[in-house]
Order: sequence, then C-alpha cells, then structure tokens
Amino acid sequence: LQTQYDPKNIFAKILSGEIPSAKVYEDARILSFMDAFPQTKGHTLVIPKVKACNLFDIPSEHLQNLIAQTQKIGRAVRDALEPDGIRLMQFNGEAAGQTVFHIHFHIIPAWSEAAPRK
Ligand code: 5GP
Repeated sequence: LQTQYDPKNIFAKILSGEIPSAKVYEDARILSFMDAFPQTKGHTLVIPKVKACNLFDIPSEHLQNLIAQTQKIGRAVRDALEPDGIRLMQFNGEAAGQTVFHIHFHIIPAWSEAAPRK
C-alpha cells in the first residue's frame, strides 16, 4: 500500500484549484465535489484537505471529521435525490481499485429500478 503522497495527484490539483470541480461543500478541513465519471446520478466525493494517501495514513482525528462530514453530505444527497439506497465506498491501494491516491469517500446513490439512473 502506497504511503508516499504524490502532491501532483488529481485531487491535490482539485484542492489547489489547478483542476476545476463541481463543488458541493467546502470548509477549512474538507472538500466535497461531484465525481466527473459518476456511477449513478449524484455520485459525490468527499476528501480531507490533509495529505493522506489512504485510510491507513490519515490521522484518526481527521478521519473522524471526514466521516462525520460524509454523513452530513450523504444526508443532503439523500434529501435532494431521494434514492432508494446509498453506497458509501472507499478503496485502498491499486489492487483494491483505488485510482486517485488521496483518501476519499464515494457517496453513490442507488435506485431499485433495473437500470441505474444517470
Ligand atoms: P477511486 O477509484 O480512486 O476510489 O476513485 C477515484 C474517483 O475519482 C473515480 O470515481 C473517478 O471517476 C474520479 N475522478 C477521476 N478524475 C477526476 C477529476 O478530474 N474530477 C473529478 N471530479 N473526479 C475525478
């Protein structure tokens, strides 16, 4: 598992403003924005401003804030889109499907219909 933080990763560039993003919420410690390649309608990402590659190198107090904010933003997604369910996803390491090495939570709304809404 990667522990060397790459300051040029995509989410670092989003944090610095070098790459634009559709922001959902921002404060001193976290940023939330829409996923550019949504798995379903409303696919939202939540990232801390602290530099951490994954679950294992983010300091616990930052993780606690990140998850609390993810709950809050998840509630807003729930109330705005009224999905039938919401997946919370978080990948660590390339082998697990992580492609951007700045820790993040995915909030992915789900609907009961066979074809997912986009
Ligand atoms: P991972 O697979 O690392 O958990 O998820 C990375 C996520 O970042 C993917 O869902 C991907 O669609 C999203 N993503 C990749 N590049 C960009 C980008 O430039 N902007 C935004 N908003 N999302 C991105």
